[in-house]
Amino acid sequence: MSEIAFIGLGSNLGEREKNLSSALTLLAETSEIELVSTSSFYETTPIQDNPDGSVANQPDFLNAVCQVNTELPVQFLLARLLKIEKKGGRERKHRQHGPRTLDLDLLIYGETMCKTAVLTVPHPRLHNRAFVLYPLMEIAPDLVVPGKGPVKNLLAAVAEQNIRRITGINFSIKTG
Ligand code: ADP
Ligand code: MG
Repeated sequence: MSEIAFIGLGSNLGEREKNLSSALTLLAETSEIELVSTSSFYETTPIQDNPDGSVANQPDFLNAVCQVNTELPVQFLLARLLKIEKKGGRERKHRQHGPRTLDLDLLIYGETMCKTAVLTVPHPRLHNRAFVLYPLMEIAPDLVVPGKGPVKNLLAAVAEQNIRRITGINFSIKTG
């Protein structure tokens, strides 16, 4: 049986656009994954993560989300995402929210709600993040986040966050 899932992508080191495009290509090339749609790319100011609440000094992120149909059970899909992250050169020495060449998050997997040591779905911070909610609105305006409600109702809470839709960048799958 196949399931609809949404994946969030982010990069704020190196060639950000290339990092996201390569990850999308690797997803699309996975035989058990069909890439259904991809949002525009968005530029976002990093989340505050200093202990004193000040904004950390790190480059802006490029973010996007995509919708996939997949035959992979949820834990295998996550494993696949982490493998692609690794290929994207991400170093895990950095703190959470720290700079990274590639971050892939499993946002939503059908109606599934689960919380284990290694996997929480829907992604536990999805509803606080403009860089997830705005691109989700773009590709799935009627989406309901299991346990949280319609995406369109979650936007008001993130209205203060700085996010810019980048026009002129389109993802196209590279062949050959
Ligand atoms: P963040 O993306 O919030 O900054 P990280 O990417 O550093 O956090 O966290 C990665 C770890 O989080 C992974 O090793 C994975 O096991 C765990 N994790 C739990 N739930 C999810 C999820 N829904 N999507 C991606 N990673 C998840
Ligand atoms: Mg992550």
